Amino acid sequence: MTAIHVIGGGLAGSEAAWQIAEAGLEVVLHEMRPVRKTDAHQTEGLAELVCSNSFRSDDSQQNAVGLIHHELRQLGSLIMASADAHQVPAGSALAVDRDGFSNAVTEALNTHPRIRIEREEIAGLPPEDWEKVIIATGPLTSPALSQAVLEKSGEDALAFFDAIAPIVHFDSVDLNKAWFQSRYDKVGPGGTGKDYLNCPMDKDQYEAFIDALLAGDSADLKEWEANTPYFDGCLPIEVMASRGRETLRHGPMKPMGLTNAHDPDVKAYAVVQLRQDNALGTLYNMVGFQTKLKYGAQADIFRMIPGLESAQFARLGGLHRNTFLNSPKVLDNTLRLKSDPRLRFAGQITGCEGYVESASVGCLAGLFAVMDVRDQAIVAPPETTAMGALLGHITGGHILREDGAGKPKSFQPMNVNFGLFPPIEAPTRDEEGKRFKGKEKAKAKKLAMTNRAKADFSDWMSGLGLTKLAAE
Ligand code: FAD
Repeated sequence: MTAIHVIGGGLAGSEAAWQIAEAGLEVVLHEMRPVRKTDAHQTEGLAELVCSNSFRSDDSQQNAVGLIHHELRQLGSLIMASADAHQVPAGSALAVDRDGFSNAVTEALNTHPRIRIEREEIAGLPPEDWEKVIIATGPLTSPALSQAVLEKSGEDALAFFDAIAPIVHFDSVDLNKAWFQSRYDKVGPGGTGKDYLNCPMDKDQYEAFIDALLAGDSADLKEWEANTPYFDGCLPIEVMASRGRETLRHGPMKPMGLTNAHDPDVKAYAVVQLRQDNALGTLYNMVGFQTKLKYGAQADIFRMIPGLESAQFARLGGLHRNTFLNSPKVLDNTLRLKSDPRLRFAGQITGCEGYVESASVGCLAGLFAVMDVRDQAIVAPPETTAMGALLGHITGGHILREDGAGKPKSFQPMNVNFGLFPPIEAPTRDEEGKRFKGKEKAKAKKLAMTNRAKADFSDWMSGLGLTKLAAE
């Protein structure tokens, strides 16, 4: 077997290369920097962190990101080992010295006896004689490669997306204020007439909300982001509000066709709608609420919405260029391009979001490639684990069907979060038999989920002899 080629030496490509080499196979890692730069990377280091230096929560009992840290560590992840070695104080989060971290990854890959690093742009589909390829070129994939992948995978398969709306955990919405109803009770194919969650505002609440939006702090945009034109119908809400105080009331916040189930005689002045975002019904997105407000400002302002006072956000809104595949449509469940299975994808280009998520999809792609080469059956981690849940999101397991008839709804990048996991029956009482309340209940549920995930992940690893695989 000739070497496995990994294109892109970011978070995902570095981890994929490491997993393959540690499993005993040869790797060629192709990274275009410094020969060709991206709009966001500043150095020529591998696994450069383009923005924050945080890997987010390291709590593997109460947090889905912390759980993915745990799973990566179980698999001997280079990204996690380098992060742990270059940690800086950040409370319960894992934050790193970005240069120390990137240098450690670069050094480990540079000196690995089975890894060769080529500094070059792969400016089109990889040559036919590369039998196994992992493409991990990230949200800023070079245009020539993006174009080639687009052509190979079929029209509109590669999305260029500029604004995202926040996503809320369903169980944090106050159903004493919000109610289920589709506008004009319309029953679409597969719908019930109660497909949206509606949050009502009176005039004073609306005016205060518009004031807050107009005063809200916007994220600083890099020049290239600032010059990105907004897509039609995808204007950030604060931009809409700046065009006139009534604009939102005639747009995404229009109250027409909705009757407040809690107070049918009072007509809402404006309504914020949330739409189910995953098949499990644990996540809801805020319809038309794409925004480039800073994260802190978003949380404060959106919690002004009646029903969302205690909202927990699975993802906040944001605006940046993002190249990602319509993965549920074009990838198989082991991350291979259906139209050319020698090409496997990893990292943010598959539709995960974030450093750790990208590394974990890189880790899986590397392991899957090794299993492929060894003619082993590829068994993905179960959806009860953090990596399995994320893979499920990417490859379509959790995609809501728009009309109940199997038509995929639009696919959006996602951080790992508990909303992607199958539900669990959690204990309702403590050891002394006292019933859990409020936060205790939520904590017990998360703990039950992470305990289940750890046990299932460990079973998955031993079932596949993965520790043996990594050590060979
Ligand atoms: P990358 O880490 O971007 O790696 C891709 C690599 O492929 C790069 O090194 C690139 O040079 C190389 N490459 C591209 N095209 C080619 C080619 N044709 N040939 C060879 N090499 C190529 N996530 C967070 O968790 N926290 C943040 O604060 C954060 N901020 C972000 C800010 C911006 C502006 C952007 C764009 C993204 C941000 N993200 C953040 C998301 C972040 O990009 C991903 O989390 C992560 O870096 C993606 O990992 P990756 O390996 O998929 O891509």
